[in-house]
Amino acid sequence: MNRETVVVLDFGGQYNQLIARRVRECNVYCEIYSYKTDIEKIKAMQPKGIIFTGGPNSCYTADAPTYTKEIFELGVPVLGICYGAQLMMHLLGGKVEKAPVREYGKIEVNVDTASRLFTDVSPKTICWMSHNDYISKQAPGFEICGWTNDCPVAAVQNVEKGLYALQFHPEVLHTKEGRKMLSNFVYNICGCSGDWKIDSFVEESIKNIREKVGNGKVLCALSGGVDSSVAAVLLSKAVGNQLTCVFVDHGLLRKNEGDEVEAVFGPEGPYNLNFIRVNAQERFYEKLKGVEEPERKRKIIGEEFIRVFEEEAKKIGAVDFLVQGTIYPDVVESGVGGESTVIKSHHNVGGLPDCVDFKEIIEPLRNLFKDEVRKAGLELGIPDYLVYRQPFPGPGLGIRIIGDITPEKVKMVQDADAIWREEIANAGWDKKVNQYFAALTNMRSVGVMGDERTYDYAVALRAVTTTDFMTAEFAEIPWEIIGKTTSRIVNEVKNVNRVLYDCTGKPPATIEFE
Ligand code: GLN
Repeated sequence: MNRETVVVLDFGGQYNQLIARRVRECNVYCEIYSYKTDIEKIKAMQPKGIIFTGGPNSCYTADAPTYTKEIFELGVPVLGICYGAQLMMHLLGGKVEKAPVREYGKIEVNVDTASRLFTDVSPKTICWMSHNDYISKQAPGFEICGWTNDCPVAAVQNVEKGLYALQFHPEVLHTKEGRKMLSNFVYNICGCSGDWKIDSFVEESIKNIREKVGNGKVLCALSGGVDSSVAAVLLSKAVGNQLTCVFVDHGLLRKNEGDEVEAVFGPEGPYNLNFIRVNAQERFYEKLKGVEEPERKRKIIGEEFIRVFEEEAKKIGAVDFLVQGTIYPDVVESGVGGESTVIKSHHNVGGLPDCVDFKEIIEPLRNLFKDEVRKAGLELGIPDYLVYRQPFPGPGLGIRIIGDITPEKVKMVQDADAIWREEIANAGWDKKVNQYFAALTNMRSVGVMGDERTYDYAVALRAVTTTDFMTAEFAEIPWEIIGKTTSRIVNEVKNVNRVLYDCTGKPPATIEFE
């Protein structure tokens, strides 16, 4: 099938994933490629439009990222954003230099509403700027269609060639009418029809998976997290009984989580996943005994997980395909698609391919953003509470217990966490914060209970708001909720006599404790 595609060319900007997401929110499929991608490859994709991202460099310096001018001659509309705008001007004969006044933050921009990029946009509109350089002169053939006091060329266009450039960032929400502008670009200028819809994705994937798998046998490591759950259910809809899902309970899950996962995905649930639950708690506790160093703990948990999975896989015999819940940000982050250098090792996928004998990996969610995975999950009929689950790290409570892990400590943190989650949900704060949990500090202190001295553990409560989990702010949970949670925890959880609230953001802290 030939789906309409917009290509984002990545010049190292911070908001590149946002650009792709915004375009997809317009129901137009969009993918990110490095600026190093050969133009022949771009041509072969027959994109409806191309977007150049922002970037940290100055385009007039010798080693700055650049692209062949030929891209402007394909007859495909191009939108340059910030660095991308400057580069377009630079390549086509305009002038870019250090700005006398740099702009950073929300700035009111005057726009010419006769431009097709600004249809239905207010003549004065708040936009997000972040630049040190500026376009001091536009390239020949271009006319200015947006300006501020300090930035005479905030938007330019060459209507005939379909080339547009914006000094500000329409993809960030601070740009009030940015969505409108991007939608104008993909609809008015690129002429897209909006054929990217999640229900058609689901339908199409099921068909493709069926074709690919044939009569083959498929194995999936199900964690109960959103990604692996959606992947598993998609597979089961496609190939039914040919799928086997293995769920490893490593004893570091939240309270009752193993049973909850089993209730939905197990034999009593609505799906046919050939669900196998492995209760490997003891094995993990044994391996982790006395280990305090966080990275070492992560490593042990990851390795043991693979070992357990491997043993299970052997019982099933030869499989043809292994399912992984990789999603688009993982693909871009690990450098396959983009310029960003961050590499995360994903616990649910890391290492598995080496230990199981299989022909091919299936990654049905490889091109989806998280919110799209959730939509697909709902489309597949997975219950809301699973689809909107907060992120939970692969090593689980193992990294929410500072220092060495014992079954008693696991129980403490499970109980405290369950109380915290319950109180947050009761107060309706679960919709307002993005991640919240309890951790067990390795600190013990003196308290008094029933006239007796205690020497017990301190629990830390954490709650953060974030849009992308790269940065986060601590949530200002009302004291009343914190107070109630605290008294319940010290009363109901044995060996805890103190509760602390973590008021640190990320950075400088991380969301998790280890
Ligand atoms: N580095 C360029 C500048 O400072 C572009 C910045 C950006 O793309 N955000 O103007």
